[in-house]
Formats: sequence, structure tokens, C-alpha cells
Amino acid sequence: MPDRPGRISLVGLGNMGSPMAARWIEAGVEVHGFDTSPAALEQLTSAGGVAAASPAAAAAAATIHVLMLPNSRIVDAVLDDLLASDALQKGSIVVDMSSSEPTRSIANAERLAERGVGFVDAPVSGGVRGVLAGNLAILVGGTAPAIDTVLPLLEVLGTPRHVGDVGAGHAAKALNNLVSAAHLWATSEAVLVAERFGIPRETMVEVLNASTGRSVSSEVKWPKFILTGDYGSGFQAGLLSKDANVAVGLGEQLGVPSLLGPAVAELWQRAASELPPGSDHTEVARWLESAFAEAPPRTGEPRP
Ligand code: NAD
Repeated sequence: MPDRPGRISLVGLGNMGSPMAARWIEAGVEVHGFDTSPAALEQLTSAGGVAAASPAAAAAAATIHVLMLPNSRIVDAVLDDLLASDALQKGSIVVDMSSSEPTRSIANAERLAERGVGFVDAPVSGGVRGVLAGNLAILVGGTAPAIDTVLPLLEVLGTPRHVGDVGAGHAAKALNNLVSAAHLWATSEAVLVAERFGIPRETMVEVLNASTGRSVSSEVKWPKFILTGDYGSGFQAGLLSKDANVAVGLGEQLGVPSLLGPAVAELWQRAASELPPGSDHTEVARWLESAFAEAPPRTGEPRP
């Protein structure tokens, strides 16, 4: 196994990128970072990293280039800039840890390969808490030797799992998040319906956790972020909505059109567009609560 790279570039220092940088710096990796937000750059500097003036300036300092950006549109634009500059050395590797679109990742791998640059997709699951605890699930797509080179770096953040060729990590990540989006929506509806019946929220969450309905939504998201009124998981509703759409689009492209998926994606898109921009995805419980409040209680017997 190769040694851990001593120096990397990292573009995207938001909710995930910032604590990832801090963890790598603590592990002795020199992080040259760029973000369009000056506050994010300041945070990097105070964590001991080097703030760069552009993605190309960050990339010029390293041969491993990590991206942790909101979506494929932005990933593609940053790669356009990097390819237009001379920052990417032959033999260097781009590691896209964003939750990107698998087919666009395959296209990015191809255009980087034409310049002698490797590509690994390594999106993550486990959120900000997972970065802080160093126990992210990291879904890796690509081939050796690029994967072997970046594995020691990924292991600082959690457990990498090789799921297939380029794009497979991004495909698995989008599909995981579609399932997760369905869980949180269904859990929230169940808790709110239970409450209307007279079962306290806490009791219904306990019931789910002791029964077959349990998931990360009932075990973590409801107790930690919704029942407490915190709504601060660090994962925006708009990003989850994006992931659900990517997963549904993937099924369509592959000729496996999901039946449940489009409904889940459509509901999340509606909630994300009606919530204030940047809202945490756990705010969906409050959004549902107000949607239900507008529906007056029905009289008569519940449905059989
Ligand atoms: P975020 O919005 O908090 O951070 C994104 C950062 O990218 C911001 O700091 C923004 O300023 C920066 N940025 C935007 N455009 C840029 C550009 N052109 N050049 C440089 N920087 C730019 O998002 P996040 O929560 O950190 O998520 C990042 C990625 O990780 C997303 O793809 C998301 O879906 C995925 N993800 C997030 C979580 C989570 O819990 N937050 C978990 C798993 C995966």
C-alpha cells in the first residue's frame, strides 16, 4: 500500500469539506484549499491549511486533487478551469468526493485521462458527524493504481468500500440517498399521524426504533435533530433533493424506471423549493407539520 499523500488540494470547504480538511491536517496532510466563500477560506487557514486564490492555484501545489462540491454542474465547471490551466500534472489524480452524477463522472474521467490524469469517485455517507468521528462510509469507484494511491487518504475519514468502476461510487451514493430520503419522509409522516391520533412523538419514535420501521431517520435524525428542535444536521434539503433526482434519472437512463423513486424525488423537490434556501434536510418534518396543519382533522371513523 502506498504511503499517505503528504499534500493535497481540496476545492469545496463547506459543511463537509471544512471538517474533512481539518481531519486531514490533523493527520499531517498539507491541505491547499479553495472555496468561493471567504469565510470558508479563513476557517481553513485557522485549521492550519493553506488558502489558495483559485482552484488552479490550489491544484498547482499537489498531485492529488479532492473535490467536495454541491453538484455535477459545479464539479464540471471547476474541472473546466483546471483543464484550461496547467495545474494538473500528468500522473496526478482527481478524487471527486462530491455526490455527483455517475454518467457525468464517467465523462470527466475520460477527459482527464486524455491529459494523463486519473479519476476516482469517492462520495461519502455519514454526514458531518461521520467526518468528525472518522467513520464515514466512502463509496469508491475507479480502478487501480489510482485507487491504491488515494486509499490511505480516504482511510483518515472512514472506511472506503470499492463498489465498481468509475461512476459506481456516485451511482451507489445517489441510490443510497434516495432510500434515505424515503425513510425520512415516511418516518416523519408516521410520527405526525401518530401524534394526531394522540401518541406522543417521542413514543412513536421509540416504537419505530423497537420495531421493523427503524432506520437512521428514526434512530438519529428524529431524536437528535427534530425532537430537540435543533434542525442542524449539516445536510441541506436541496442537496438531498438533488441526490434523489440523480438516482431516479439513473434508473431511467438504465431502462429500470423506478416506481417509488419519482414520487420520493418529487416530494423532496417540492419541500426543498418551499423551505428557505439552505434549510437543513431535517426541516422537512416542520414543513410536513405545517402542510398537515392546513388540513383540518377529519370527522368520523379512521380508514379501516
Ligand atoms: P455545502 O454547500 O455546505 O458546501 C459546498 C461548498 O462548495 C461551499 O462552501 C461553497 O461555497 C463551495 N462552492 C460552491 N461553488 C464553488 C466553486 N465554483 N468553487 C469553489 N467552491 C465552491 O455542501 P456540503 O454539505 O459540504 O456537501 C458537499 C457535497 O457532499 C455535496 O455534493 C453533498 O451532496 C455531499 N454530501 C453532503 C453531506 C452532508 O451531510 N452535508 C453528506 C454526504 C454527502
